[in-house]
Amino acid sequence: MQRHYSTEPEISRVLIAATFSAVSSCCNFLQTDKVNRFSETLGAHSLSLRHTKTEVLQVNVGKLCNLTCVHCHVNAGPKRKEIMTCQTIDRIIDWFAHTEIPTIDLTGGAPEMIPDFRYFIERVKAMRPTRHVIDRCNLTILFDPGYKDLPQFLADHEVEIIASMPCYTLENVNAQRGEGVFEGSIKALQVLNSLGYGTHFPLHLVYNPVGAFLPGPQSELEADYKRELKKHFGIIFNSLYTITNLPIARFASYLRHNNKLEEYMQLLLDNFNPATVSGLMCRNTISVSWTGEVFDCDFNQMLKMNWRDGNGVLHLWDIDPAMVENREIVTGSHCFGCTAGAGSSCGGALV
Ligand code: SF4
Ligand code: SF4
Repeated sequence: MQRHYSTEPEISRVLIAATFSAVSSCCNFLQTDKVNRFSETLGAHSLSLRHTKTEVLQVNVGKLCNLTCVHCHVNAGPKRKEIMTCQTIDRIIDWFAHTEIPTIDLTGGAPEMIPDFRYFIERVKAMRPTRHVIDRCNLTILFDPGYKDLPQFLADHEVEIIASMPCYTLENVNAQRGEGVFEGSIKALQVLNSLGYGTHFPLHLVYNPVGAFLPGPQSELEADYKRELKKHFGIIFNSLYTITNLPIARFASYLRHNNKLEEYMQLLLDNFNPATVSGLMCRNTISVSWTGEVFDCDFNQMLKMNWRDGNGVLHLWDIDPAMVENREIVTGSHCFGCTAGAGSSCGGALV
């Protein structure tokens, strides 16, 4: 039985109609919201949000992607030109090597599409003591020309894969991500399984709601995914992460176009759960952009809520790793997306 999904086929059509100016104005709406209701809400619960020890360096290597998903908070796509250069990779690696941060988490866009993706991983894996690498993969990229040997490369370097898979049905996946994405994703998961992913190497899937609602319970969805993917396609994976869509970029455009932005914001506000705050990913993560600029998370990055000092925006190489702990996190109304219901992070639900 399928549950917790709402098929919204109009979502694709609406996004085609949405203009870039609509995207910009939605971002502005959230950015220029003078009253930080999220901060006020934290205060009302006697909570604050500060960095703890850094466990993850999340690097967004650029906006280039082979897909143009409806829920994308990056506005990524095949025509985007913003990608990390080799020089920036070297500066990040040099900084990272002088820290004890155990994990580097590569995201995008489709991170695999930058020319120096493999070089980046090879340099990290050559470090001693060894560091863990995560690749946030959209699966379909593994079948684009030039990427056929990439699954083997990832397995050889023991890279953890966190793969987008918004549903286990063709209809819902293709509505959110585009025609043919479901079939390509299934094929990619089968290849990854054949290389030991899901058994020897970690393979996690990510669920995003296909519309303006909160994810269902993570453990129930995981059981559904495991049963259906195994039964129909023989696919196995480790965990399912449910991630709430944040009302920014392309998803904000969809909400605005359907007059659902206020309603969705209210849904997030009404479901504020103080128990999620201690697990928010911004507490133990540093987020870096394709230019090396630093943020509290990938969402803040898209809203240009940079770390700054008196001289302007900070780059990773300006940061003293010892000074990050206890740093105050920059928040805004979009943060309600991380604290609604069971909470949401790059590792799924929080409570
Ligand atoms: S959601 Fe991921 S796969 Fe989809 S367009 Fe954005 S970056 Fe690409
Ligand atoms: S969007 Fe989420 S992860 Fe980012 S600062 Fe706000 S609460 Fe933290």
